[in-house]
Amino acid sequence: MKPILPGSAIGVLGSGQLGRMFAIAARRMGYRVHTLSPDQDTPTGQVADVEVNAAYQDLDAIAKFASAVSVVTFEFENVPAATAAAAERNAPVRPAGQVLHTTQHRLREKTFLSRAGLPLTPFRRVASLEDLTSAARELGLPAILKTADFGYDGKGQFRIADVSELAQAWRAVGERESVLEAFVDFEREISVVAARGVDGEFVHYGAIENQHRNGILNTSLAPARVTESVTRQAVEIARAVLEKLDVTGVLCVEFFVCRDGRLLINELAPRPHNSGHFTFDANVTSQFEQQLRSVCELPLGAVTQCSPAAMANLLGDIWSGGEPNWAAAAAVPNVKLHLYGKMSPRPGRKMGHLTALANSVDQAHADVQRALSTLVGKA
Ligand code: AMP
Repeated sequence: MKPILPGSAIGVLGSGQLGRMFAIAARRMGYRVHTLSPDQDTPTGQVADVEVNAAYQDLDAIAKFASAVSVVTFEFENVPAATAAAAERNAPVRPAGQVLHTTQHRLREKTFLSRAGLPLTPFRRVASLEDLTSAARELGLPAILKTADFGYDGKGQFRIADVSELAQAWRAVGERESVLEAFVDFEREISVVAARGVDGEFVHYGAIENQHRNGILNTSLAPARVTESVTRQAVEIARAVLEKLDVTGVLCVEFFVCRDGRLLINELAPRPHNSGHFTFDANVTSQFEQQLRSVCELPLGAVTQCSPAAMANLLGDIWSGGEPNWAAAAAVPNVKLHLYGKMSPRPGRKMGHLTALANSVDQAHADVQRALSTLVGKA
């Protein structure tokens, strides 16, 4: 197959910040970008050549969208299977619809991982309160009940500490097919962002250390403060995932690092990931450019990290005291500000991020925290 060259149009399903940063990388290399989502004036649409406003279920719109571009990729993986199929009839879709199908459903994803012999958090399928009761007995408590599909308004998780909470948990997930996961008393969380070309070429950004708050990523540090052996194992697991799923594109594997050093996969994301945002500033080739190169069948770029980095998300919460002090944050010279062009800063909504580059990851962490404090007027 011939590569898809600059000047061609790339279609992106979804229109959030991942598509925005992809579009910036693609336009920098002279590609045109079309985006489709149900929304208008979106983070991706603001920097794309063409913004199509349609429902993912509108298969005529999807077919028309795909026939106007050379390849379709996505930044929102929870599109219906029929949507990916309608796009696939009109243009290559990368990663393929099959990858989306597996990774957009926790049970399918976990079944795939366990059949592939990869280490993951112990889990049970739950389709009734009776199932939940026996799953809790088998796995022990505390445990976390998560809906099987991801597209449930973020309401899909409930931590169960005691058997008296089982019925409440079952109601909280909407009495729908779910997965009960053993609660992992992890030492830390890490992720590996990797890319794979059509020809099987594989590159990765090493282990990234992630700190969450209220279930949302708060800070990422790169490289992660783990042993070389942990990094090596995590990368080999990520390589196996991309190969076994036959991914063309970027995929992120999130892990728990247990206190005994074992790694357990938490989940997969078949696209650039929030934990890889630092690559936009710190690496020779960002995760977004890598997505572009892989879906266009170009050779992958060097992943070399030019400096240790720390990334902090800017959630809508920091607007609670008024507009953040952008000028003050800009006064920290080794910190880069990214804003996604979103209009309403709701609590928990990802509005942007800061990346600090420094001589050590601890220094980068301190600098990004300092910039964040000045932003909200606490410094
Ligand atoms: P998820 O959306 O499933 O990735 O969960 C978000 C965050 O919740 C994770 O990154 C962890 O910090 C925490 N979490 C999720 N599942 C578990 C688990 N089984 N054990 C411990 N913490 C968890």
